[in-house]
This record gives sequence, structure tokens and C-alpha cells, in this order.
Amino acid sequence: MVDARQVYSKAARTLGFVALLLAACLPPFAAATQSPPAGADAHKGAAWSSHSRTSLTVLVVGESARAQSLGILGYERDTTPQLKKQDGLIAFSDVLSCGTQTAVSLPCMFSSKARKDFADGPQQGLLDMIHRAGVQVLWWDNQAGCAGACDAATVRDLSHLSEPNLCAAGQCQDEILLQGLQPFIDHLRQDTVLVLHLRGSAGPDYYRRYPKAYEHFTPVCHNQALDQCSHVSLVNAYDNSLVYTDHVLSTLIDLLRANQAQVDTAMLYMSDHGESLGEYNQFLHGAPWPLAPDQQKHVPLLAWFSEGYKRTFSVDTHCLQQERNRPLSQDYLFHSMLGLLQLDTGAYDPQLDLFAGCRAPAMEGAWVSGS
Ligand SMILES: [Zn+2]
Repeated sequence: MVDARQVYSKAARTLGFVALLLAACLPPFAAATQSPPAGADAHKGAAWSSHSRTSLTVLVVGESARAQSLGILGYERDTTPQLKKQDGLIAFSDVLSCGTQTAVSLPCMFSSKARKDFADGPQQGLLDMIHRAGVQVLWWDNQAGCAGACDAATVRDLSHLSEPNLCAAGQCQDEILLQGLQPFIDHLRQDTVLVLHLRGSAGPDYYRRYPKAYEHFTPVCHNQALDQCSHVSLVNAYDNSLVYTDHVLSTLIDLLRANQAQVDTAMLYMSDHGESLGEYNQFLHGAPWPLAPDQQKHVPLLAWFSEGYKRTFSVDTHCLQQERNRPLSQDYLFHSMLGLLQLDTGAYDPQLDLFAGCRAPAMEGAWVSGS
């Protein structure tokens, strides 16, 4: 007769052996349930093997520029006299923001999540993926920080310099962001994405956002209680700030064009949100998105590419010009930057890449084979 205790003991030893075997063969439970961080797979696509020159992609973001007040987008006032003369500039006319204030729009623009899914909290962002793929990421700031969007970048705060021609009372005009750019390009040895964060048209003191030489429209509101100003003087001050942004962006394009023999250069510009100037009795921005007027949600998106950049990164600008009126949103920025930069990652969604349908045919095969 078999002793019940012997049977139990033998069964226990067998189970113990099986448990040891499983423990040896399987990764720990905690590791088995952890997924790699989103975008950890980001890497340069196969097309990079044919890149022969260093590239510099400048992404300009901010601030409070509304699409309907840009001359280049149909505004009756010429607030973009320099940009409208820029050869090859593409001005997208129908772009919706993710939020109506910087603290929402900025992290959302740089997130893989679309506006409808976007929520606060730790997550991988665009600049982290670009950095992981081996492209240098820099953020030069003339604002009050980046709301977490620049955590993966090397950040330079230029907003509190004491450059006498550009800075006063603790604030600098946006040309401060361009001041060190030429020496920076002279020493550029690695592919780089440079984000320039503008002060742009940040209110309510629009009259402080531009040097006197850019005061094209007068009289100008000098009261921060905006409802105390006449509507026309408020609009004048705001429009003058856009005239200055026009100058900053156009100067940037000129500089990138002047360096195109040595470096493949490109510029993208996207405002974080728009601005109300008294329409529906609303001022500034920050209205709840579903209720916010169009002025707070429609933002400009501009793009310019050097000839070498177009060839290297397979950008068909004629196609993009034809597509400039298609409905877009800030949801596109994340995937468009990955697509433009030919970076491969499972986080990339070609449906939200505004460049996906406008790749230059000659390079398309190389790009597809690398994705
Ligand atoms: Zn903002």
C-alpha cells in the first residue's frame, strides 16, 4: 500500500521541478508584461545610406499666430510682405490646432497621440524619437519653456539675454534666435533638428513683440486691458507683431538658403494656437476647444526646402503646393516629421504624414524599402 504522504511528497517534488524549469526558461513575470517604450525602435531608414551631406531641419513653433491674419493666407492686410517673395515657400491654409493654449498645444504637437486621445501624463514624444534615431535635437527658446515638449533636446534659453539691440526689460525680440545661427551652421557636423520657440504674438502686450521699425499699422493699443482699446488699435498692434514674425521667418529662410551649398536645409513653421481680438467679445486665447472660435484654432503652417534637401529627403514641393489647401491639423506634425526625416518606427502613421503623398518618385523606392 502506498503511503499518501509519499505520493504527496513525490508530486510536490515534480511540481517543484516543473516550476524551476519554467523559471529558467521564461523571463521574469514583471519583464514579460513590460512593453518597450513607444518609439524605442526609431532608427534612420535605408534612404539615409545615400545621404552625402549634413542636414539641418529647423522647426519654428509658436506663438499665438492666427491663420486669418497672415497676408500670405489671404488676409486683406499685407502682414507677410517678405515671406510672399520667398521662392518655394508653401503656405498651408487649413490647419487646426490641438489646443487653444501653449501648455496644451505644445506637448500635443510633439506627441504621437492625436488631439482626441491626448491626455496629460508621461509619454514618448517626437523629439525623443528623433534623438533615439541618432539625429541631434536642439531647442532654442525665446519663451517661458516648452511644457515638457523639449525634454529630449539640448535646450538653450535665449529669452533673458541682455543683447542691447534686441532685449529690454527682461524680454528679447525673436531675432535673438537667429543671432548665433550662422556660426552654429559653420560648425555643424551632424544631422540636426533645431526647434526655435518664438515669442511671436504673445499678448496682451502685442506692442512689445516687435521693434519700432515694424510698426506698419497705427494707432496701436498700449493698454494690457484689451477691452479698453479701440478694436482697430488692438488689431494694429497684433498685425505689427505678425509683420515682425514675417521678417524673422524670411530672414531665417534667407540664411538657410545662403548655406545650401554646404548643408541640406529646411524650415517648417507652425503656430501653437491662434488668438481672439475681440470677435464674439473674446480676447487672447484659451477657450475650451469645442467652444473656441475659429480665430483661436486655425494656425499657419509654412514650409521651405533647399534644393539639396528636396533631393536628399525626396520632397516633391510641386505636389505639396497642390496639396496646400487640404484639411490638416497639429496631429500631422509628429508623423510628418518622422516621414520627412526618413525615420522608421512602429509609431509612424503614414495617414497623418502630410508629405507621404508627395515624395519625389526617383527616391520613393529607396524610402519604401527602408520602412
Ligand atoms: Zn501659445
